[in-house]
Parts: sequence; C-alpha cells; structure tokens
Amino acid sequence: MDAEIIIIGAGVIGLAIAEKISEKYSNVFIIEKHLTFGQETSSRNSEVIHAGIYYTRESLKARLCLEGKPLLYEYCNKYSVPYNNCGKLIVATSGEEIPVIEGIKQNAKAIGLDDIITIDARQIAELEPEVFAVKALWSPSTGIIDSHSLMKQFETNSINNGCQVVYGSEVTAIVKIPGGYEVSVTDADGNTFSFTTSVVINSAGLTSDKIAEMVGIREESLRIHFCKGEYFRINPPKNKLIKRLIYPVPHREMEGIGIHVTIDMGGGVKLGPDVKYLDSNVYDYRLTPSKQKDFYRSAKKFLPFLEEDDIAPEMAGIRPKIQKPGEAQKDFYIMEESDRALPRFINLIGMESPGLTSSVSIANYVRNMLNNCF
Ligand SMILES: Cc1cc2nc3c(=O)[nH]c(=O)nc-3n(C[C@H](O)[C@H](O)[C@H](O)COP(=O)(O)OP(=O)(O)OC[C@H]3O[C@@H](n4cnc5c(N)ncnc54)[C@H](O)[C@@H]3O)c2cc1C
Repeated sequence: MDAEIIIIGAGVIGLAIAEKISEKYSNVFIIEKHLTFGQETSSRNSEVIHAGIYYTRESLKARLCLEGKPLLYEYCNKYSVPYNNCGKLIVATSGEEIPVIEGIKQNAKAIGLDDIITIDARQIAELEPEVFAVKALWSPSTGIIDSHSLMKQFETNSINNGCQVVYGSEVTAIVKIPGGYEVSVTDADGNTFSFTTSVVINSAGLTSDKIAEMVGIREESLRIHFCKGEYFRINPPKNKLIKRLIYPVPHREMEGIGIHVTIDMGGGVKLGPDVKYLDSNVYDYRLTPSKQKDFYRSAKKFLPFLEEDDIAPEMAGIRPKIQKPGEAQKDFYIMEESDRALPRFINLIGMESPGLTSSVSIANYVRNMLNNCF
C-alpha cells in the first residue's frame, strides 16, 4: 500500500486524530481540500469547553465530553494553548424557570457531573453584577479556548510525529480493493491522482456523509442536514460588562439551547448561535442583519444593560446534524465499518457540538478502535 492510514479532513477532530495515531503508526497522511486547516466548522463555533450538561446518559456525546474536557485542559497546559476556565451560568429570569434549571442539574448529576451548583441572586451578582437572574446554575468547569492555536498544535505535533499533511487536495472517489482502499484526490490545479491505503478515517465534517457514500453507505439516518447558527457581537464598551458564559434556560420548543452569551480569548463577546436548518446543503455563511431585534430581545431578558444598537452581525457557522428538523438529538456516529464489509474504514459523522471539547477524547477513542483492527 502507498499509505498505511489516511485521514480525510483537517478540522479540529481530524487533526487531533492525526496527532494521536501518528504517535504509534507510520505512513499516516491527512488530506484536506482547503489550503490550510480549520476553514470550516472548526473555525466557526463558540470555542466553549463544554462541561457536558445537556447530553443524555449513555450517549457518546456525554461520555466523550466528560472525558474530553479534562484531557483538553491538560493538553492546553502541556502545550501552552490559550484557554480560560471562566465558568458558565445558566440563568433563570423568573420563578417558572427555576424548576427547569433544577431539572438540568439533575440530568448533569445523572451523567456524572458533580460540580454544578445552584446559586441565588446575591451570588450571581458577585460573579456577574450586570446580569439579571433570580437563580442560576453555576458550572465551574466550563471554559473557552483559542481553537486556532489548538489546531495549530495538533498539526505541529502530527508533523513532528512524521504525519504528512496534504492541503489543497480533495478526496473525490474511494474504491474498496483487496487489503484496503484506492483513494482518488484532485489537487488545487485540477490534477487527479490515486493512491492505496490500508485504513481510511473519514473526518470530513459537513461532507462526511458524501465520503461514506463513496464506499456505498447511503443510509438516510447518516445523511447530514446543514444547520446554520448566526452570531451577533456586543460592541465595545459594553462587551467589557460580561466576564463569563451566560446561558438562558432552554425551552421545550427550542431546537438549540437558546441565544446565549459567549466570550472569546480576544475579549470579544458574542450572542448566539441561533438555529436554522438550511433548505439544502449549501455553504451559506451569509449574515442576516434583520435578526438583530430577535437577538436583542432574547438577550435583554438577562442582560438589562443592552440596547438594540449595542449589537451587530458577527459570523455564522454550520452544524453537521444527522437529525432532521424536529427530530430528537442524535449521538455522534463513530464506527469501524467491518460489519458493512468495509474493514478499517472508520466513519465520524454528525460531529457537531461538543466536538471541539471532545477532540482529544475522540482521538483516543479512534486510536483504540484502530488498535483493535490490527
Ligand atoms: C455554530 C457552532 C457552534 C459550536 N460551538 C461549539 C462549542 O462551543 N464547543 C464545542 O465543543 N463544539 C462546538 N461546535 C462543534 C464543533 O465546532 C465541531 O464539532 C468541530 O469543529 C468538528 O470538527 P471536524 O474536524 O469534525 O469538522 P470540520 O472542522 O468541518 O473539518 C472537516 C474538514 O474536512 C474537510 N473536507 C471535507 N470534505 C473533504 C474532501 N472530500 N476531501 C478533503 N477534505 C475534505 C473540510 O474542508 C474540513 O476542513 C460548534 C459548531 C457550530 C457549527
């Protein structure tokens, strides 16, 4: 075989996997269609290190988030990747919302998150004097991270381990051959060439379902539905009034967890993301200034200092969801496909949040999967 292992996609997950498996295996390649890493979902997200509060028990999302969070903090400390363990408040703004936050706390406890506590209005004011809430949940282990620096570190360590990182090259076809796969790649000049590999790891994010289709996996349940999320920034000087992540209480009818406040490592403060399934899977990162009033109204409930013209459109990202609009949340799909007669073909599909938080634990999970194949 020309290669031992190829990983398709240099987002945060593909890069984390590349670093981990190139520690043990040689002749590893990562193939990315853009000219550098992290040009899609991995650079268009909230950069939150999630605690794991909202995920269902027994799900891979809960398990990999809970395992991944301390591993990520450890990784950041080891390699000086900037992060801020700032903590997060989930705020109840009325008496009716208090039972909801208690329910969230119970769920968090059930999946093994023991550090979430309920705090009252006085304690909230000590942490965030400008926020209005009657009660809140306090998650001390939540944080934020500089995701670009994280990806750069994964890339550097992968290269130092001997992994070859190939940019500007799009995987366009994969054929099963005895003992492995023949992969066709088209480069930035439009030239197509093929090579053989024993292992394929599909970490292609928004188009991971298309990669799976190349080897005949055409399941409706693995089809990706693009789900856009837009952000508005809070303009200076009011961005300085918030120091932590502030989330409202999620309501039953919501598809997301509500317009929340995220801070970033550069001192920026954002509202969002909202949730809007796109009619077709197109890369539509356009912003919608007409949403300003809705964002303002949602945030005003717990940020009383905010005026409508304090915010402005900032950016958008697209979630690679495998649940259709209105369907219950689905789990990450991470599978070695021997059962489909595709040995050593590993699919990662539906890698939405908490994919960034879980990047190191996902890499460990895939490495263990791979170790069992040899
Ligand atoms: C709005 C939003 C907010 C989020 N907030 C958070 C958060 O706060 N915390 C958190 O933990 N997670 C968050 N997430 C989720 C997180 O961003 C993702 O789980 C993570 O970035 C997925 O990484 P990835 O490597 O799988 O995908 P990507 O970053 O999309 O990388 C996939 C790569 O594959 C490449 N590729 C695709 N097809 C091919 C091909 N045929 N050939 C070659 N290359 C190909 C793409 O170019 C791309 O670079 C959020 C996501 C969104 C959209």
